[in-house]
Amino acid sequence: AKADGRGVHRFYREELLHGAQNRKRLEDDLRRALAAGEFRLAYQPVVSTADARIMGYEALVRWDHPQRGAVSPAEFIPVAEECGLIEAIGAWVLDTACAEAATWPDHVRVAVNVSPIQFANPRLPALVAGALAATGLAPHRLELEITEGVFLNEDASSEQMFRALKALGVRLALDDFGTGYSSLGYLRKAPFDKIKIDQSFVRGAIQPGNRNAAIIRAIVSLAETLGMETTAEGVEQQDEIVLIRGLGCSHIQGYVYGRPADAGTVRAQLDAAEGY
Ligand code: C2E
Ligand code: CA
Ligand code: CA
Ligand code: CA
Repeated sequence: AKADGRGVHRFYREELLHGAQNRKRLEDDLRRALAAGEFRLAYQPVVSTADARIMGYEALVRWDHPQRGAVSPAEFIPVAEECGLIEAIGAWVLDTACAEAATWPDHVRVAVNVSPIQFANPRLPALVAGALAATGLAPHRLELEITEGVFLNEDASSEQMFRALKALGVRLALDDFGTGYSSLGYLRKAPFDKIKIDQSFVRGAIQPGNRNAAIIRAIVSLAETLGMETTAEGVEQQDEIVLIRGLGCSHIQGYVYGRPADAGTVRAQLDAAEGY
């Protein structure tokens, strides 16, 4: 499936290079996929560092292409962003994730990735409000994950967007922290509830002499000062849990606690944890 993924990626890159006609084909393929119900969501647990309780799940979109098999979001999301279809896909993700989360126990949140393109659309708050109203999900149970990409064309409208989203009562997380541009200025201005420390910092952090642990510690300290939670992403091994706990991150996400899984698997996980 991995080789397939790369093949699709190459396929798309080439098509994108070959002008408007091919681009239109790609867009049609994505639009067809949306109408045909080829997208689905996988949910990955986010766990409390202190007691290993499941605090929530991140919703991650999947595409089961009829000919090409599973296509990674890392490959098709950028294409969807370029052709504008991320708006429709993002709206579907939001509705589906909220509907699913509304069936979970009250303390379990859902995190949804929001593309910078969606973030630039003044209709986003209404879209989010609509998803909450339609599903009955309490706003504080929805966390929107935003990357530093939203700050690229920074102007008054992004500040307004942050205010409008916070006014809905939803939570905001800064995703992939540390991988983008100078992030510190954004932290000062934007009302994030959580910083997600990119998995590239977790990678190798347990090796002696590796600097990543020091960087994670500094990020956690900064976040605590600002009253924000922290999630360490991409935690794969037991040793890393111990390290991350020692560094003070409030949450852990990664294969060590669970790979992204379908809604039915999540339901079984929650049943086992809660006995409800
Ligand atoms: P992300 O938001 O940083 O999501 C985390 C990615 O890390 C996911 O990849 C997840 O499967 C992977 N991951 C989680 N734990 C581990 C681990 O322990 N080890 C390793 N090696 N990887 C781990 P995925 O699902 O392939 O998604 C890739 C990216 O695609 C996401 O990165 C996000 O940027 C984007 N994406 C996914 N779903 C959506 C969506 O609904 N909307 C938007 N706009 N973007 C999405
Ligand atoms: Ca994310
Ligand atoms: Ca991330
Ligand atoms: Ca990422």
